[in-house]
Amino acid sequence: MAPVKKSASRRKRIASIRCPICRGSVPAQAEEFPFCGRRCRAIDLARWSSGAYVISSPLSPEETIHLDSDTDDD
Ligand SMILES: [Zn+2]
Repeated sequence: MAPVKKSASRRKRIASIRCPICRGSVPAQAEEFPFCGRRCRAIDLARWSSGAYVISSPLSPEETIHLDSDTDDD
């Protein structure tokens, strides 16, 4: 006779995670955790990359050159 495992009486931790994109419930074992799926993960990634792009380049090189030549007002 094999000993009965106690795993069943262990604490049950039901995490109710919500997808930050679509607010849908996400299973704890989801592959794209904490997102409900690849689609929402891609949307979040796009948001981050677009935001980083705006911050890292507030002015385009062309605009900077334009402003430089405009100081010739002596
Ligand atoms: Zn989602």
